[in-house]
Amino acid sequence: MRKVPLGKTSLAVSQLCFGALPMGPLQRDMPPEEGARVIRHALERGVNFIDTAQAYGTYDHIRLAKEGYGGEIIIATKSYAETYQEMERAIREALTALDGDALGIVHLHAARVGPELFAIRSEALRCLVDYKKRGVIRAVGVATHTVPTVRAAAGRDDVDVIFPLINVRGQGVQGGSRDEMAEAILEAHSRGKGLYAMKVYAGGNLLHDRRGALDYVLGLPGMEVVAIGMVDEKEVDMNIKLLQDEEVDENYVPITTKKLVISRFCRGCGSCLEACPNGALSLSEGKARVDEGLCILCGYCNPLCPEFAIRMV
Ligand code: SF4
Ligand code: SF4
Repeated sequence: MRKVPLGKTSLAVSQLCFGALPMGPLQRDMPPEEGARVIRHALERGVNFIDTAQAYGTYDHIRLAKEGYGGEIIIATKSYAETYQEMERAIREALTALDGDALGIVHLHAARVGPELFAIRSEALRCLVDYKKRGVIRAVGVATHTVPTVRAAAGRDDVDVIFPLINVRGQGVQGGSRDEMAEAILEAHSRGKGLYAMKVYAGGNLLHDRRGALDYVLGLPGMEVVAIGMVDEKEVDMNIKLLQDEEVDENYVPITTKKLVISRFCRGCGSCLEACPNGALSLSEGKARVDEGLCILCGYCNPLCPEFAIRMV
């Protein structure tokens, strides 16, 4: 698999980044041994880049996948830490849990936070810069869904890598449109930032046109690497083939849909209720609830959620 230099960092990462979120307790909750098997399969197929986070609960899966593997692995993790001490703890936790000496990238886990992030978490960022100077981490990053945060990060000397949300539908992009996010990405690229993309399949909503989804994101200047969450070996093979422009089984459905889950990120906006053709959704105590007896798993509600709080698992 082709390796791509990430901006001005010393990192050369595979074009496919293994997204570890879906196998963890926030989504499919796979046993670490099972998840490790899938990650190891990806490593053996040439993937050297894994994206995780302190909040994902997947360090065990990754550590097991690494056991006895001789090749290079670059791990990106993220933390919501605000203070220097909290970030220091997050780094140490990752190093211990992942059984490693250095981390590839540590991001400020910013998701929905605007540029005020850099004031609120200035001490956490200072910690990352210190640990980079000491060689404990190789790059400092920001993972975000919002356009103004990408723009602000692009102008900062202490940020090496930006991990923005972008997809052809613009689903989940905050603080601006899809095209404004694309412009912010271009600006970040022109300032030498390393970039890789999240939610290229819009949380699974673009799986019917994977090639179109990838073509859009990989057509953006400086965006050569995509993080894709995967939970089985076939999915890994499918994405590798797509990125290498090889034939794939277009009918393959990667995740067996069993039920609809509404995560803790739901903020009760009610958008999904209008989309449901079956009256399966309602609001209760500020959160959406699903009546499993009425839900027909059509997925119509999923694209309407600005928080990616609706999941088919
Ligand atoms: S999957 Fe379809 S039926 Fe189920 S809650 Fe969503 S819109 Fe309603
Ligand atoms: S659209 Fe998303 S955030 Fe809004 S109520 Fe539905 S699940 Fe919650």
